[in-house]
Amino acid sequence: MKGAVLHSPRDVRFEERDAPKISAPTDAGIRISATCVCGLDLWSYRGISAVEQPMPMGHEYCGIVEDVGSAVSSIKPGQFVIGSFFASDNTCSHCQAGYQTSCQHREFVGGAQAPMLRVPLADGTLVSTPDVPPDDLIPSLLSVSDVFGTGWFAADAANVKPGMTVAVVGDGAVGLLGVLAAKQKGVERIIAMSRHEARQKLAREFGATDIVTERGDEGVARIKELTRGVGADAVLECVGTQEAMLQAIGSTRPGGYVRYVGVPHGVKLDGEPLFFAHVHLHGGPAPVRRFLPELIDLVWNKKVNPGKVFDLTLPLDKVAEGYRAMDERRAIKALLRP
Ligand SMILES: [Zn+2]
Repeated sequence: MKGAVLHSPRDVRFEERDAPKISAPTDAGIRISATCVCGLDLWSYRGISAVEQPMPMGHEYCGIVEDVGSAVSSIKPGQFVIGSFFASDNTCSHCQAGYQTSCQHREFVGGAQAPMLRVPLADGTLVSTPDVPPDDLIPSLLSVSDVFGTGWFAADAANVKPGMTVAVVGDGAVGLLGVLAAKQKGVERIIAMSRHEARQKLAREFGATDIVTERGDEGVARIKELTRGVGADAVLECVGTQEAMLQAIGSTRPGGYVRYVGVPHGVKLDGEPLFFAHVHLHGGPAPVRRFLPELIDLVWNKKVNPGKVFDLTLPLDKVAEGYRAMDERRAIKALLRP
């Protein structure tokens, strides 16, 4: 089979790879219906995260189960399933606490930009849809696998609710879906920080009421201005840079919540200003598995359309163009169909 492999910065090739096989009795093999390029993939693509050897790419997936190992009982061939980027048993104490991405038996699921994928711990990791979905639901169902689940985690962990003012740092797919999550949870005032016109438009469609184009200290000042000098009750940091993190902490009111879901790259926090900021800090790799049943249900019943973040659809063999378009910010997120 052919799949996407990153050889060195900006060199993604669609090339022959070994087809995955069931190697543990708890594995499932799925035929990918759709996959996509993640903001996280761009860190390696841009050479900011080291590429030490050719890397099979992709960790967002949905598709039809082809085969299962002998110990798999709840997942069956023929089902349409969605899973998270970390496989989890969904039974250990971390999973039971709702932190499946810290599962004591977790395994990263990589190589999803391909026609076939091996998913470990299938019973714990995968959730099936009520039926095989119509084609128009596939983008939204795919988004549940990572970006929507991650935006949802940011909002959920900040305990957002009606009456709160929520600000979102980052206008990538996760930030935009953080806006959608806050809106779904009843928040009326949502401030999206973006300087990109198409993304501002989608943020408004998803529920943003205010747009802030300033960044850094100016961005913080603007949020303060919009909140009568108080700051936002919750800020969702969906980037992972030093500037974004400081902007998030600075924009949050004393007692408020900073939720960070962008993988940090070079973020360093000074203890003293953090001490005096008086904010709740919580973040990490989103335990998407916790939210899968709820989010699949929202999509299945057409209450939300998170698939709108995919503004570019390509056949899988054009995967390199998907990376280029996202790198150059010509596309918010590229969906790939085998
Ligand atoms: Zn676990």
